[in-house]
Amino acid sequence: MKNTILIVLIAALATACGNNADSTTEGTPTEQATPQAPAAESSSTAVTVELAGNDQMQFDKNEIRVKAGQKVTLKLTHSGSMGVEVMGHNFVLLKAGTDMAAFAQEAMAAKDNAYIPAGTDAVIAHTKILGGGESDTITFDAPSAGTYDYICSFPGHYALMKGKFIVE
Ligand code: ZN
Repeated sequence: MKNTILIVLIAALATACGNNADSTTEGTPTEQATPQAPAAESSSTAVTVELAGNDQMQFDKNEIRVKAGQKVTLKLTHSGSMGVEVMGHNFVLLKAGTDMAAFAQEAMAAKDNAYIPAGTDAVIAHTKILGGGESDTITFDAPSAGTYDYICSFPGHYALMKGKFIVE
């Protein structure tokens, strides 16, 4: 009888040890995907933002966060392969209170000016219009704290290609 209990105890101990060994192995930190940074690089005075547009008429970010007073360097890349005539992309940051649909309507008619309405006062900053494989980098001062809209002003794109530019 005593022997049986002892054997059971030993078996239990062995199992416990085995489990410990297992959990130690499982506990080893696994390589994790790089956490999504709010922006590529950020300091108190400057921030770099990378944004991409693809052949499916989509931006890869629908929210960009920066801090008031930062100098923003924004690189827009067209990650697709379609030409600028059929799948052009730009980044247009609109002033607060701009009617996005009305602006897009005006922009549509401004093909000769890279889809930026001439003389508009609704734009804080914008890139060139890009075709597949191209990129453009612009630098501008973050506007005052608030939430702003950004769009691609190529005809018909703003319905999908838009996001919030949040200045904290
Ligand atoms: Zn576009």
